[in-house]
Amino acid sequence: MTQDQFYPCHNEFRSDTFTVPTRSMIEAVTMATVGDSVYKEDQDTLDLEEKVAKIAGKEAGLFCVSGTMSNQIGLRAHLMQPPHRILCDFRGHVYAHEAGGLATLSQAMVTPVIPSNGLYLTLEDVVDNYIPDDGDIHMAPTKVVSLENTVHGIIMPLEEIARISEWCKENDVKLHLDGARLWNASAETGIPISEYCQYFDSVSLCLSKSLGAPIGSILVGPRKFVEKANHFKKQNGGGIRQAGMLARMASVAIDENFGKLKGASALASDFAKFCQEHGMALEGPADTNFVFLDPKKVKIDPEVLQTIAARNDVKVMGNRFAFHFQTSKMAVENLKKTILEAFEHSLEHPYVSSGAIRLYHTKKA
Ligand SMILES: *Cc1c(COP(=O)(O)O)cnc(C)c1O
Repeated sequence: MTQDQFYPCHNEFRSDTFTVPTRSMIEAVTMATVGDSVYKEDQDTLDLEEKVAKIAGKEAGLFCVSGTMSNQIGLRAHLMQPPHRILCDFRGHVYAHEAGGLATLSQAMVTPVIPSNGLYLTLEDVVDNYIPDDGDIHMAPTKVVSLENTVHGIIMPLEEIARISEWCKENDVKLHLDGARLWNASAETGIPISEYCQYFDSVSLCLSKSLGAPIGSILVGPRKFVEKANHFKKQNGGGIRQAGMLARMASVAIDENFGKLKGASALASDFAKFCQEHGMALEGPADTNFVFLDPKKVKIDPEVLQTIAARNDVKVMGNRFAFHFQTSKMAVENLKKTILEAFEHSLEHPYVSSGAIRLYHTKKA
């Protein structure tokens, strides 16, 4: 089989970060420009930044090595001088999975909020947890609200985003979106990326997860803001010299793979249905390409799961199952077999967690 029919990550359910560049992306590299992107002299990088800015309906874009960088420098560029704070979902990647960057890079306090509807933040959640800049010297005022869409695979409704956006404007609070998987939300709802982005001052869009580029995220926003963020990008060692090869691959990834994301969420909803039909409770709705099993109700021993998964040739991690455009149908069938066997084992031997459940286990490698 050719690479395009059967990818090395076809059985990879740990994350959509495992997607690999397609043959056409690799072939496109040979055509890439080789200017210095730090000097803004690389045409392919400039083209990619403009292309994504246009998709998002924003003035400018900035190609960054990772989503962590585009989020962190984006939030930093919105802030002036501490004391200040950022409000976000308690599961927000910017807070939970960026190595404490908000504390070190922005010297920001964070208000991590548990959504009262159990799904995503609402305006009421924001208002209830907002600290105004009203001269109270005991407080660190909220200067930025950072949303995530999708958040744990859940799609935030446009109406809620609009409500939060309007309130933020009225209260002089900046609104950032970690849109690592906004592509997935847009593919599923049919709402254009630009329609989502119009409500935000800045948006980070990932190129390397669901779209399959080898590296990168794009930060979009007003030109002046992007210039400031570029300053922080350089300060954090994020200047890439001959970025053209990476930019060219990312551009092909957008053109060719955005249209394939609906297929990934179809596989996810098929798997979600299978789990529910066999008595396994989900932690939340499987709106897009993730399925989360509820570890409080589905007491699968992670080690038992690993053993069964290895036998069935699928790769899994924790209670989240990620689907992507390179997932094979065969692997999904093997995953179903795996989860069913692990679940049946758990009914006899329920696993009692000894502490906090962590999604990522990269420290063990
Ligand atoms: C992966 C991810 C990021 C960061 O991306 P990296 O490129 O891995 O740094 C940011 N936000 C969300 C929601 C993510 O899933």
